[in-house]
Amino acid sequence: MNRLAQLDHRYVWHPFTQMRDWLKAEPIVITEGHGAMLKDAKGRNYLDANSSIWTNLHGHNHPQLNHAITRQLKKIAHSSALGLANEPASLLAERLIKAANRAVSPAADRKTSTPSLGKAFFSDDGSTAMEVALKLAFEVGRRGGNPHPKFLSLDRAYHGDTVGAVSLGRIDLFHKAYSQLLFRTDKTPAPYCYRCPYNRAKPERADARSYRKCNEECLDQLERTFARHAKKNRKPYGAFVFEPLIQGAAGMIAQPDGWLRKATDIARSFGTPLIADEVMTGFGRTGTGEIQKAGGASRGIGQSLFACDKESVRPDYVALAKGMTGGYLPLAATLTT
Ligand SMILES: *Cc1c(COP(=O)(O)O)cnc(C)c1O
Repeated sequence: MNRLAQLDHRYVWHPFTQMRDWLKAEPIVITEGHGAMLKDAKGRNYLDANSSIWTNLHGHNHPQLNHAITRQLKKIAHSSALGLANEPASLLAERLIKAANRAVSPAADRKTSTPSLGKAFFSDDGSTAMEVALKLAFEVGRRGGNPHPKFLSLDRAYHGDTVGAVSLGRIDLFHKAYSQLLFRTDKTPAPYCYRCPYNRAKPERADARSYRKCNEECLDQLERTFARHAKKNRKPYGAFVFEPLIQGAAGMIAQPDGWLRKATDIARSFGTPLIADEVMTGFGRTGTGEIQKAGGASRGIGQSLFACDKESVRPDYVALAKGMTGGYLPLAATLTT
């Protein structure tokens, strides 16, 4: 076995991996990447078909990204945001905020009375970007007179692996072992049309979408969940938390057109802030089409970078990470009003 592979077996603990199985085979040791290709220590080439877990949007070893990083390194690698400002943070924050606000018209703003996204809080990974959103929303709820705001998230949600993010998550394989460590959150069904739980056809057929008329039962259930909570607590949820348009770690489960808009309208009608987890979907991963106005007419206001834009949903908090640096650096941001 290659020396690097031996060192891996001896010292490296891999995430989401049954290590007993991992140790049975010689691992592939990646040493280089160019464009969409990876190269291993034995000189073999591989297509990086999952873009290094959804992070690498522009290819490995991209000359422009390499140049930007080395140019910055010649100036300074890191300086604290605590008590000091810095050049790239100022420039990037402006670009993120402008990109995030492009999609929603002033009229839509008046209707939802959501102020524009106005600030970027930088951190280092998607889980942390979600923790930041949670903490901000918790504090807003608390100052609004709710001593312990509760959060509502979707069935099969994945928001990262820190304690707050796992508390919002709904994937037993990843999360069950930690139930005693977590805080309680409520859940609501995500639309999973392929295996819709409201499909009562017997015998069950392969794909409910092809023959079953949808009555949007999952949205009714969402509305009932909000109503029950409002009646019991007299205060809204701290936030409604969702992966917009597609649930990634759940198995790439796409939401039907219009679902996000309707679900977030329901949340808004109960005065609940929105946390959009665009860690996977951000930066054009659900398409970069022309931004559409709510009515459907194109206004030609530029390319959309975010999944929420597709349904003119303006969240109060947006978590960004993975694609933000094209997978080159550990960097994340939480945008908020
Ligand atoms: C990957 C992912 C996260 C967590 O991001 P990390 O950078 O791995 O902490 C959170 N939410 C979604 C939707 C993700 O896909």
